[in-house]
Amino acid sequence: MKKIIPFWLRNWYLTKIKRPPCIMCDRIGELELEDGTYICGICAQIQGELADD
Ligand SMILES: [Zn+2]
Repeated sequence: MKKIIPFWLRNWYLTKIKRPPCIMCDRIGELELEDGTYICGICAQIQGELADD
């Protein structure tokens, strides 16, 4: 018997389990910070803009 993983479940796994959510806004984490937490691209950009000051 073949085991079929539904696409939505696989997609959910890849986005939610493999990539932890952004610690700031709960979107998919894209960038790992030095302390092991993840932030999304949007928050990374915001942080980058703040860091420029
Ligand atoms: Zn975010």
